[in-house]
Amino acid sequence: MVAVLTTQPLDRPLDYKAPAGGCFLGAFVEVPLGPRRVIGVVWGAGLGGFDLSKARAISRILDVPPMAEEMRDFLKKVSSYTITPLPQMLRLATRSPGLGDPPSMRKIYRLGAGEPDRQTDARQRVLQVLQEYGGLAFTLKELAETAGVSSSVVKGLVKQGVVREENSPRDLPYPHLEPDFGKVTLSAEQDAAAKQLRNAFETGQYTTTLLKGVTGSGKTEVYLEAVSACLKKGRQALVLLPEIALTAEFLDRVERRFGARAAEWHSGVTLTERRRCWRMVAEGGASLIVGARSALYLPFRDLGLVVVDEEHDTSYKQEDGVLYSARDMAVLRASLCSAQVILASATPSLESWANAESGKYKRIDLTSRFGAAELPEMRAIDMRPEKLPGSRWISDPLKQAVQSRIQKGEQSLLFINRRGYAPVTICRACGHQIGCDHCDARMVEHRFLKRLVCHQCGESKPMPEVCPSCEVEGRLAPVGPGVERLAEETAESFPDARVAVLSSDLFGSARALKEQIGKIAAGEADIIIGTQLVAKGHNFPLLTLVGVIDADLGLQGSDLRAAERTFQLMRQVAGRAGRAEKKGAALLQTYQPEHPVIRAILSGDEEGFWQAEAREREAAGVPPYGRMAGIVLSSPDVQAVFDIGAELARRDGPLRAIDAQVFGPAPAPIARIRGRHRVRLLVKAAKGVPLQQALVKWVGQIRQPHNLRLSIDIDPQNFF
Ligand code: ADP
Ligand code: ZN
Repeated sequence: MVAVLTTQPLDRPLDYKAPAGGCFLGAFVEVPLGPRRVIGVVWGAGLGGFDLSKARAISRILDVPPMAEEMRDFLKKVSSYTITPLPQMLRLATRSPGLGDPPSMRKIYRLGAGEPDRQTDARQRVLQVLQEYGGLAFTLKELAETAGVSSSVVKGLVKQGVVREENSPRDLPYPHLEPDFGKVTLSAEQDAAAKQLRNAFETGQYTTTLLKGVTGSGKTEVYLEAVSACLKKGRQALVLLPEIALTAEFLDRVERRFGARAAEWHSGVTLTERRRCWRMVAEGGASLIVGARSALYLPFRDLGLVVVDEEHDTSYKQEDGVLYSARDMAVLRASLCSAQVILASATPSLESWANAESGKYKRIDLTSRFGAAELPEMRAIDMRPEKLPGSRWISDPLKQAVQSRIQKGEQSLLFINRRGYAPVTICRACGHQIGCDHCDARMVEHRFLKRLVCHQCGESKPMPEVCPSCEVEGRLAPVGPGVERLAEETAESFPDARVAVLSSDLFGSARALKEQIGKIAAGEADIIIGTQLVAKGHNFPLLTLVGVIDADLGLQGSDLRAAERTFQLMRQVAGRAGRAEKKGAALLQTYQPEHPVIRAILSGDEEGFWQAEAREREAAGVPPYGRMAGIVLSSPDVQAVFDIGAELARRDGPLRAIDAQVFGPAPAPIARIRGRHRVRLLVKAAKGVPLQQALVKWVGQIRQPHNLRLSIDIDPQNFF
């Protein structure tokens, strides 16, 4: 008897009869469950306690390597840390299509022997292609297309043995990566950093290193040295990137450095490729994987290194389903398999900064930009005396700076962190603001799509002609700037300039976006208008000016990380300027030039900013110096959701037992999403207390009505 954990929402593993030859702990199996067959993993010895003759048998053992003990351990730990049921964790770890299928084969075609009975033009072309490409094998489609013939021509040649048809496994290993292929000469500072990272491999022990370096200092170059060292040890490396759009550029770089492309894992990868990646990671046929946060749950055979690039990026926090921080879970994963972690960033999260301060992480600094590139000069533009009309956002000083770049043939970037045309549409007759029907959010006009879009739930509708409230026609007007509206103003102010807009929602595919980025890098634009997307690591050598339209935007709101986020974003954006030989400048438009965060950004006193921010958080007992959990209750029934919130707040015994405090219930910052009312409670505790256990006990006290959803977010990042 063995216990099998399945991906079905059951509260525990179920007992099954093992097959005749027995099975390994961790084996992937298919088991009957009710009328269905489901995938599971052998989790331990059977628990017994029921009539053994009634136990059902495992249907079959899947033809993939068993789940390693460290992986099972990892899933258990993430499960208890994030208070997520284990079956849901297993689902994350088995996100490969056709996992249960036998290894599938495909037909491939090679040169056979002899001559065809009758030579035709088409036949000759097929043979020529096969000869030209030597021993290479083709699929039927590839061969027919390359030769420009129909597939029946190939089939005819197969019948005569002139072309050979073979079966070959569909999931091929990834090409070999050569650790020393495109070795670059490192600067002294880079070399010292690389040496330190390489040495960490020699000990064979887990460590986490914060690799902090200004944009363009060669962090990537340096951590690729660690990848090289990892490959030389025969272990697998994983590089996590915050944005799919960055993958293509990064894979090119891997190819230049290691002579071949790495395996890819993210939502934009085809099902066939996902399946190949999952299998090859398990079998050892993939040595470097580049991916999104879910790549942490791939079945690595021998994971030796995890790099988290742009480790401060908020997209590493998964905000639906299993709520976890990929940065923190990468550290956990690595600590379980004696791997190295490198957290790379120009503007680390306060968490990582504090962990380095306390000695929990090592820290390596790259202080200068590579080559001739210099850090940009940063200046604030005080917007108070500018007196711009309500429909204009580019100040005169910024306009002049852009103009002078255009004359010199250099590029400018105008940054605004708001998608769409205008964040608010107001009726000038009655003052009504158009909101989403399902959420407590205002609709954002997207002129490009000719629609109003809710950025909360994605709901959209055509721009109305009349006000939905007072029904007066033609008085609806946009208020505030979005990236599209800024593009409009830019086109008017610089009629002869070529303007390119970079916003994630303007591109249908990652490929279209990549093309646009390539064109910009090649100089096919004078002015780039961009959202957050441009802050993330793209390289534009001609860019020498960055204008931040509204540096105050992130400073509003009550988020405890508001200052940190603004600081990171502004420095990242400014870091885009002057990456090649030309010196760059960054101009920040602000109505509060005296604000401490704005001053810290301008003075470049990073350590000073972090010290100050750390002191404030420590005094308030909030992360990273205290712990927090956010509990969101949601239901279509507004009364019920408040009642249960209040009941939870009252019955706080289990929390008081660990000296934790509960705040709320309060309407969540977004009080309604998709028609569900949302109420939030916040729990604050000291570090080192068993918070999760207390939370489970606490929420376990109430009976949940069926239409109530309760989600617990440990270490919440976004307070929505
Ligand atoms: P970061 O990741 O810190 O932003 P990169 O590693 O991307 O920096 O380096 C910035 C640019 O400088 C890249 O184009 C990179 O190829 C180049 N570069 C950095 N270090 C070297 C080096 N030692 N030799 C050649 N080029 C380098
Ligand atoms: Zn909505």
